[in-house]
Amino acid sequence: MTKKINPNLTKSEALILSWKNRKDYKGYDRSKGSSFNSWRSIVNTKKGKLIGYPEEGKDYNVFMAEVQGTWAKGKICRRYDITKPYSKENCFWTEKGTENLWNLNKLIYNGEEKTLLEWCKIYNLNYNGVKIRYYRKEKYKTPEEILFGKKIVVKSRSRLKREKSIVRRVQAYRLRDKHKGLKNDLDINWVREFVKQPCIYCGDTEDIGLDRIDNTKGHTKDNVVPCCYICNTTRNTNFTHEEMKILGRTIEEIKKCRLKEQNSKTNTE
Ligand SMILES: [Zn+2]
Repeated sequence: MTKKINPNLTKSEALILSWKNRKDYKGYDRSKGSSFNSWRSIVNTKKGKLIGYPEEGKDYNVFMAEVQGTWAKGKICRRYDITKPYSKENCFWTEKGTENLWNLNKLIYNGEEKTLLEWCKIYNLNYNGVKIRYYRKEKYKTPEEILFGKKIVVKSRSRLKREKSIVRRVQAYRLRDKHKGLKNDLDINWVREFVKQPCIYCGDTEDIGLDRIDNTKGHTKDNVVPCCYICNTTRNTNFTHEEMKILGRTIEEIKKCRLKEQNSKTNTE
């Protein structure tokens, strides 16, 4: 049944010809041109098929009979609810560029119900962004998240960074101990909990890692203490664990003084 396409025709000319050969094609009315294209894009494009349409909509004449009266030249077909397929109830015709006015999806925020566009005008928000979040209900669950997006991005990124650094550090300890033939019984879950403790020398809670009590032995659970970066680099191989305890008290004092200075500076600014 396949007809050979005339090689003299352009692609679009061939397409028009193939439409004209269809059973339900009843002449091409220039005044209906735009609605014909709309129907074509609903019924015949990949996107349209994915969205879905009622069975009877397959026939252009049925479609035309339904939209007549609401359609006018230059108008485009839009759905009220874009999560639902095309249907007589879910479609309307509107001028290009005004379709956002017709999105009647409402959102309750701070006890008030308004359409998405109204909210966007109030808070000067990007309408398309809000609309996308509105339909992604599995990700944006609260009205705040729909309107303003997720706020915790920065926080979760730093948590991720910390998590990565723990994993990397444990892997590095293992590798180093293996090379030196030392024992190592650390696991990531144990370290993750362990570094939540304050520095054993100065009491700081930031930037906590592991410090070995006896540097000739490997990283084992009974040979490590929680230790901040500054104390760790200070001790290095210069001091023993016991000596570092004495030094830690001084470091604690210095850190407190620095914090006081910093606070008084920001208060006077
Ligand atoms: Zn410390």
